[in-house]
Amino acid sequence: MDNLRVIENFLSDRELRCRLIETCIAIPAEKRLFQSHPTVHVDWRWEFLSKALDCLIPRLSTLQKRFDGAKMLATSAGVLKSSAVTSLDALLKSQEALLCQCELARVLGKVFENLAKRLETCHCHERVWAARMPYTTRAKKLTQETGAAKCVWKTRMGPWFAAVGLDEFLNSIQTCSSDMLQQLLDDVPGPVRAGLLEALQGLRQCAHEALTEKFGFWRHVPWSALGGY
Ligand SMILES: [Zn+2]
Repeated sequence: MDNLRVIENFLSDRELRCRLIETCIAIPAEKRLFQSHPTVHVDWRWEFLSKALDCLIPRLSTLQKRFDGAKMLATSAGVLKSSAVTSLDALLKSQEALLCQCELARVLGKVFENLAKRLETCHCHERVWAARMPYTTRAKKLTQETGAAKCVWKTRMGPWFAAVGLDEFLNSIQTCSSDMLQQLLDDVPGPVRAGLLEALQGLRQCAHEALTEKFGFWRHVPWSALGGY
C-alpha cells in the first residue's frame, strides 16, 4: 500500500509528470498516459483500491520501462519534489515484482467484484442481470418478461453461495490470472520467473487461507436459516 502511495504521490503532481514526459519518454502514446491523471485514493477500501489499481497499473508498467531518476533530478526541483522522485526511483529499482503483485491484486479484486455482482442477482433471471446494459434497462426487461417489477429471489443467493458459490469463489482465488500477468511472467528471465511465481502463489495462498477462515461459518449455517437469505 505504501508503494502505491509513492507512485500516486509522484503521478498526482502535474509538474513532475510534465518533466517525466520531457526527459524520459519519447513515444507519443506513452506520453499521453501521463498528460492527465485522475485523482485516485489509495486506501484499503476495495472500491477505492480497485479504481486506483485500474488507473496505476498501465502507468506503472511504462514507468518501470522509462523512468530515469537521474535525468529527472538533473533539472531544477524543489526539495519536496526531489523526494517524490527519489522515493519512486528507489521503489522501481528495488521492486521488480511490483507490477506483477499489483496486477494480481487487481485480478483478485475482480474475482471479489464478480462474486458481489452475482450475489445481487437471482437464479431464475441470471441471464437478464448478466446482460451488459444499464440497470434500469435490465429492470425494464425483467418487467417485460415476467410482468413483475421485481423478482422476489433477487439478492437471495445465500443457498447458492453455501452450496456452490463459496467453493467456486475460493477456487478462483487460487487460480485467477490475466493475460497481462501471463505476459509479465513470460517477459522475465527463467530464474527470476521461478521466484516470482512462488511469490504470487504465496499471495494467492494467503488470500485463500484468510477467506476460507472468514467464510468458514457458511459451512455451518443451518439449511433452514439459508432460506431467509
Ligand atoms: Zn429471478
